[in-house]
Amino acid sequence: FVLSESGSSKGAALVAAVAQRLTSLRRQPRISEQLQLVKARMRSGLDAGLRSKSSSTIKMLPSFVYLTPDGTERGKYLALDLGGTNFRALLVRFKKQTSRLYHKIYTIPLEIMQGTGEELFDHLAQCVCDFLDYMGLKNTRLPAGFTFSFPCEQSAIDTGTLVAWTKGFKATDSEGHDVVSMLREAIKRRNDIDLDIVALINDTVGTMMSCAHEDQRCEIGMIAGTGTNLCYMEELKNIEKIEQRMCINTEWGGLGDDGCLDDIITLYDTEVDQNSINQGKQRFEKMTSGMYLGEVVRQVLLDLTRRGLLFKGHVSETLKTPGIFETKYLSQIESDRLALLQVRSILQQLGLHGTCHDSIIVKHVCLVVSRRAAQLCGAGMAAVVDKIRENRGLDHLDIAVGVDGSLYKLHPHFSQVLKETVRVMAPQCDVTFQPSEEGSGKGAALIAAVARRKRDV
Ligand code: BGC
Ligand code: MG
Repeated sequence: FVLSESGSSKGAALVAAVAQRLTSLRRQPRISEQLQLVKARMRSGLDAGLRSKSSSTIKMLPSFVYLTPDGTERGKYLALDLGGTNFRALLVRFKKQTSRLYHKIYTIPLEIMQGTGEELFDHLAQCVCDFLDYMGLKNTRLPAGFTFSFPCEQSAIDTGTLVAWTKGFKATDSEGHDVVSMLREAIKRRNDIDLDIVALINDTVGTMMSCAHEDQRCEIGMIAGTGTNLCYMEELKNIEKIEQRMCINTEWGGLGDDGCLDDIITLYDTEVDQNSINQGKQRFEKMTSGMYLGEVVRQVLLDLTRRGLLFKGHVSETLKTPGIFETKYLSQIESDRLALLQVRSILQQLGLHGTCHDSIIVKHVCLVVSRRAAQLCGAGMAAVVDKIRENRGLDHLDIAVGVDGSLYKLHPHFSQVLKETVRVMAPQCDVTFQPSEEGSGKGAALIAAVARRKRDV
């Protein structure tokens, strides 16, 4: 899966290689030595993170979620979901074994993502107020779960300090602060609505919970979207508590921040990292998630063009523009159903004018980059399931993963390559992937329900 950095091959040879590559793509992936290394390094990262948080790039953050839902959840809950690109407010109503959901999506302008913390939380409070108004619930005090898809150091289910922003966020005066307090204060400043925020939840944890509601075997949550992350149920062997397991938010996107992936990271990845707003951070995430894959592709195309292998050697302004390849274009370009001419016309719409040969090369680059992403996540997942299996002293583990995110759900090959890689790299585990429906919304409401139940006992 390593991207070749040598441009010595001629365009024609590349095109021939492309054709060959495309057929071999559908065969079983050869699990390279490098993927085994990634699995091993992920495993040591997980172990080191559990031993001491400060010495590992994998943070292994406790979530204070012990229980899986038991189906007795009742009532109305609010779920607030700050994800990679937008904010969603949801009303979740549990009745008997079913749940009903109402939601509204709010975009977050870039200047708010990267403004001050106070402005950001005021904006969120404004959205909540609009939603309550819209639902006719402005005068009720509902229990709320706050899904906050960034690393938080929690000391209880309803508090957590933001360790560091990731993805496109960079609001000031938030890192090191309790994000629940920030939201409560913003609501207090408005003085027109009231909320009872009972739980702070990472999106992976919400995803796991919502799937666990349907399948008891679900003890892992994974996100492959704008960002990437995973949580799983870890044993609490040495802690005297009634609870046997606590969900750990691994923050696996930080793998490699200490240089442990340097032998795998290409010049293209380095370029993407250098152009990002959090240089040196989230190196694994930058090789595997939606926010960055298009940028990796663009760097490869820039390089091929500079070497005269693409677009007649003409480096256009478009190609120099960060962010032109959104994940949705990658998904389209890589779709098996698309004829080459259609690929060419997508590229033209993006402002990249080339021949059919150029289109073949672009498509090939997209395939290699997204395939590498899926394989890296697969190697990481293999490390996690083997760890859980060993934790429990089993020869064989049967486990389910609740999974969400645009890359997993919308990309034409990502999920297939991911599953295949896990199958080959963790042969003693049977891993079922369950796409979560409304993971962070319903999951957050479930966690809020459990949290409130415990609090009221
Ligand atoms: C964040 C995680 C989150 C993941 C997926 C990462 O950038 O650090 O907390 O779970 O994105 O949204
Ligand atoms: Mg989300």
